[in-house]
Amino acid sequence: MTPYFVIDADLIEANLRVLRGVMDRTGCKILLAQKCFSCYGLYPLIAQYLCGATASGLYEARLCHEEMSGKENHIFSPAFQEDDMEEILRICDHIVFNSPRQLALYGQRSKDAGLEVGLRVNPECSTQEGHAIYDPCAPGSRLGTRLSEFEQLTDEQLSLLSGLHFHTLCEQNSDDLETTLDAVVEKFGKYLHGMKWINFGGGHHITREDYDIPRLERCIRRMQTEYGLEVYLEPGEAVALNAGELHCRVLEIQHVGSDGIVNVIVDTSAACHMPDVIEMPYTPPILKPTNGEGTYTYRLGGPTCLSGDIIGTYQFTEQMHEGDEIVFGDMAIYSMVKTNTFNGMPLPNIYISRGKKMTLWKQFGYEAFKSRI
Ligand SMILES: *Cc1c(COP(=O)(O)O)cnc(C)c1O
Repeated sequence: MTPYFVIDADLIEANLRVLRGVMDRTGCKILLAQKCFSCYGLYPLIAQYLCGATASGLYEARLCHEEMSGKENHIFSPAFQEDDMEEILRICDHIVFNSPRQLALYGQRSKDAGLEVGLRVNPECSTQEGHAIYDPCAPGSRLGTRLSEFEQLTDEQLSLLSGLHFHTLCEQNSDDLETTLDAVVEKFGKYLHGMKWINFGGGHHITREDYDIPRLERCIRRMQTEYGLEVYLEPGEAVALNAGELHCRVLEIQHVGSDGIVNVIVDTSAACHMPDVIEMPYTPPILKPTNGEGTYTYRLGGPTCLSGDIIGTYQFTEQMHEGDEIVFGDMAIYSMVKTNTFNGMPLPNIYISRGKKMTLWKQFGYEAFKSRI
């Protein structure tokens, strides 16, 4: 029954091999950023290749603890809650704070509990244009400690830190990492000498065809040789890039409107099942049927009340019919983790494929909707 996701374990493994290559050649450590891809049915596979995972809060940390046990469990949050701290300190091994205030609140306790304590810095170096929503270095950002604040840390606070963390990239190549690293070194270099590790964050599109891996490895080696640091990377997208599909069906083809547009209503929704299409925004690729150019232009939209619930406008070579299946590509990343049941939309079931075998991993029904309200 459509709509459903299919996560391709073979393609995930191909990505993992690329990441493993970087680890093997440089000795760096790579973690899965769970906020992008929390498909824990594949955590055993991921654990064969990566060093562990990173969490945005207690729940993701608990998921790593349960499903990737024995692996490194890192956590970062812009602001932690007192109620969560006891469990976090029990199950995590690295904790990264966002501000001197958070470090003052929880740093000593974390260190006493045996965790490696880090501080996220803001190098104030924007390398992305047009996506302020994804730029932690945008003016007024709440993410990361700027140098002016970092300089106010007392020696006692500094002595709590064993590492620094930065995360400023989004779907970027290693030239932007290199630019960012220059800024980090220029601003925070003098503090790095006393540290054990540095975390380059996520946003590295390492498994994308045109990604410059040798340049990434030069960035890693630079921090290893100049500062003697252990280097962490915590990509999300690179782990699951192009490794998932969303299957849906055509419910209705409308008549040509006065504006010449043919609207097609499908049983999946941009707003509910692929919110990044609206938030980013972007137009997802369609793997099936053949498209790109052709005489048939259709605008695909969801069955919700939202006028803007539009997936995109596509050209197909063949005429479309009610009941036809449409397959969207690159649907493993920031998809299942972001679905919602607005309008009472059903959540897509999730299949995992391995070789020729497809297994139903998650099934959602009315109860999934009811329990979330
Ligand atoms: C989002 C995020 C990541 C993962 O980013 P990707 O773009 O999915 O690689 C890693 N670390 C932090 C702190 C993040 O906020």
